[in-house]
Amino acid sequence: MLAMQYRGPYRVRATHKPEPRIEHPNDAIVRVTRSCICGSDLHLYHGLVPDTRVGHTFGHEFVGVVEEVGPSVQSLKKGDHVLVPFNIFCGSCFFCQKELYSNCHNVNPEATAIGGIYGYSHSTGGYDGGQAEFVRVPMADVGPHKIPDDLSMDDAVLLTDACPTGYQAAEMGEVAEGDTVVVFGAGPVGLFAAKSAWLMGAGRVIVVDHLEYRLEFARKFAQCETVNLKEVDDMAIHLKKMTDWLGADVCIDAVGAEAVGSMLQQLTGRYMKLQAGAATVLHWAINSARKGGTVSIVGVYGPTGNMVPIGNALNKGLTLRMNQAAVKRHLPRLIEHIQAGRLKPSAIITHRFELEDVADAYHIFSSKLDNCIKPVMIP
Ligand code: NAD
Ligand code: ZN
Repeated sequence: MLAMQYRGPYRVRATHKPEPRIEHPNDAIVRVTRSCICGSDLHLYHGLVPDTRVGHTFGHEFVGVVEEVGPSVQSLKKGDHVLVPFNIFCGSCFFCQKELYSNCHNVNPEATAIGGIYGYSHSTGGYDGGQAEFVRVPMADVGPHKIPDDLSMDDAVLLTDACPTGYQAAEMGEVAEGDTVVVFGAGPVGLFAAKSAWLMGAGRVIVVDHLEYRLEFARKFAQCETVNLKEVDDMAIHLKKMTDWLGADVCIDAVGAEAVGSMLQQLTGRYMKLQAGAATVLHWAINSARKGGTVSIVGVYGPTGNMVPIGNALNKGLTLRMNQAAVKRHLPRLIEHIQAGRLKPSAIITHRFELEDVADAYHIFSSKLDNCIKPVMIP
């Protein structure tokens, strides 16, 4: 079959690989019909994730049709259309019972913090991902969700990660009626965090990025105010001014490691004084949240050291929340919002590629070329 393959930092290609087979009685094989590239894939692509092995196939945002099921799979059959959450989880351990599916204890037990993720290096279990014609889906009775007839494949594929992650960011922020919410990052996750903040009753939503085309998109997609960080000298002061010096009730980090990368790249640039010595977004989020406010982190950080201003967080009495999204927990509510016309996840898809053009897709998404927001590949 055709599949994306990692060759080394900034090098991916489409290649032929053996088709996956049922390895355990509870596996299914899914024929992929849509597969996105995520901001998290860029951390792999940039070589920031430990134990990313040459030959690995990425892809944790995919939907498809069940091709085959193992003998113990009860809830799926050949021909079912499914969306598959990016987490691989058992559904019955201590953590899964608390709906902390991204922290499953039984999948990837060698790792102390994280459960399994499709196509996300051997540090999350080494499972091949869905940027391929076929993918093996372990624990097939637990993760996959049958796609309702009235849900498009394009909307469904965004429910495997970006949309529920943005939703969870707002949920962890405990956004309440009338709250001012600042979202750092106008990528797919930040866009859905902004949209979710409104759905939870926010009174004001402000999105921060340095890419004007993404901020323009955010204004249309999420009817938010925007701040271009290139135009601001001191982010915390700027956001405080915007909020009558109180600060934001909720600050969301939907950037992650990229801010550390951009810090290094820009050390000689004009944001040096803002960025040197701190993981920019965490710093800005903590310093621009109001006293007693909440900072919600879904941006992904690698092992790079981040200097977090934890003393300020303590003095302000902030609540810090963070996690990988527990996708499955959010699906019923998000599907309801889509069916009621309050949410259209597929509106953020800007680019479509054939799987064989995967190298171009990564290059364009990573370099933010051609006003790219979310690329989807169609095997
Ligand atoms: P993306 O790369 O498309 O978007 C990131 C955005 O951040 C870009 O628009 C970029 O211009 C902007 N940015 C960079 N530096 C910034 C700064 N200093 N201040 C403000 N904005 C800045 O990625 P995405 O798909 O939207 O994902 C965003 C983050 O969420 C990534 O770190 C990704 O790994 C993470 N993520 C987490 C989960 C989870 O479960 N916790 C799931 C999916 C993605
Ligand atoms: Zn993702």
